[in-house]
Amino acid sequence: PADHGLRLTAKVFSDIERRDYDQPEFRQAVHEVLESLEPALERHGEYLDARVLERLIEPERQVIFRVPWTDDSGDVHVNRGYRVEFNSALGPYKGGLRFHPSVDLGIVKFLGFEQIFKNALTGLPIGGGKGGSDFDPKGRSDAEIMRFCQSFMTELHRHIGEYTDVPAGDIGVGRREIGYLFGQYKRITNRYESGVLTGKGLHWGGSQVRTEATGYGTVYFVGEMLRERGEGFDGRRVVVSGSGNVAVYAAQKVAELGGVVVAMSDSGGYIVDESGIDLDLVRDIKETHAGRISEYADRQGRAKHVDGGSIWDVPCDIALPCATQNELDRRSAEALVGNGVIAVGEGANMPTTPAAVKVFSDAGVAFGPGKAANAGGVATSGLEMQQNASRDSWHFDYTDRRLSEIMADIHSMCRETAETYGAPGNYVLGANVAGFVKVADTMRELGV
Ligand code: GLU
Repeated sequence: PADHGLRLTAKVFSDIERRDYDQPEFRQAVHEVLESLEPALERHGEYLDARVLERLIEPERQVIFRVPWTDDSGDVHVNRGYRVEFNSALGPYKGGLRFHPSVDLGIVKFLGFEQIFKNALTGLPIGGGKGGSDFDPKGRSDAEIMRFCQSFMTELHRHIGEYTDVPAGDIGVGRREIGYLFGQYKRITNRYESGVLTGKGLHWGGSQVRTEATGYGTVYFVGEMLRERGEGFDGRRVVVSGSGNVAVYAAQKVAELGGVVVAMSDSGGYIVDESGIDLDLVRDIKETHAGRISEYADRQGRAKHVDGGSIWDVPCDIALPCATQNELDRRSAEALVGNGVIAVGEGANMPTTPAAVKVFSDAGVAFGPGKAANAGGVATSGLEMQQNASRDSWHFDYTDRRLSEIMADIHSMCRETAETYGAPGNYVLGANVAGFVKVADTMRELGV
């Protein structure tokens, strides 16, 4: 049976090499999951017989569409929109929309694939999907963003719904964009269907803590990993890459727990502030006027800005990559290990390259993969859906408590699964296997 297993896994690998050769991020994400599934597949021949892997790596549906819009000077632009409805075994497709020039089908598929297992780990009834556009919101006026979102939803609306597919935000899509998208959905369908999108504003069906959830959740997860080792955030030096929504609220929670965030970044470089980053200043620069992080050093004399370079050269005890995929490579991992890092938690999706993950695991660093560590965002989206379905809205403290319980549950599930499958402390294996088993069992039970 083990041989049978290897042969079938090899077939799945060759299927994606052949069909998806032009989607490196998707192939990377599939390889990373499949490699750690081996011990589970050896024990459960039934998954292979039911061709669960072959079915898993092929999205149920992929929608690609034209998004035409007009800029402020009246010129017409055309972008490409995507929605990949990857897997609906556990519930309606669920996952964010990313607006960034790097978005293509391979990026959306990698994110959608990760989302299947992440969503399964939350324990909530949500399937996996992802979408977005190669539209670049940088430098665009509010009116241009609104027209783009309206055009995007003009097509997307026919594919989504409370019981079908529930998008949310991701890079380049926050509360403002969700507002324009929801407004257009409501206008076209004449339905106040709150549960069709998550990440909404608090007056129109949004949930408390959703904005903070991914960053907070990452810190809760890393807190659990540290607790296992008799450690905590108190007095620890922490480096957080990025300065978007995930990074800012991860940094805020670290500071609340007594850690000192000494560095943050954006695509232009990074800042180091040894006495602890002033988050109000970061938010003023990034959220209020969409500026560059270099401004921080101009306005806060004690800080320094490094143009380009790698934020991972800054010595720290705990590293939280919260920017984007493949931002932390082998060299960066070696630098972090050399400087004595004890824990790494992925706030972003797949920020650590496979070679870097290996450096951390060889060095015995506690490593929390994104599927587990950043699941707090989508988990709170699941809580938003619950509130919408019951036409209720919960208080901040209650919602935050639910979030921290979910993160603690995900942590124990990953830890226990890793132990059961003979790899104690391997959260990558624990997350992949625990997520996979739920989806695979369900796919078998629902038939081909
Ligand atoms: N974009 C987030 C993620 O990567 C959240 C998705 C959601 O809330 O649906 O998980």
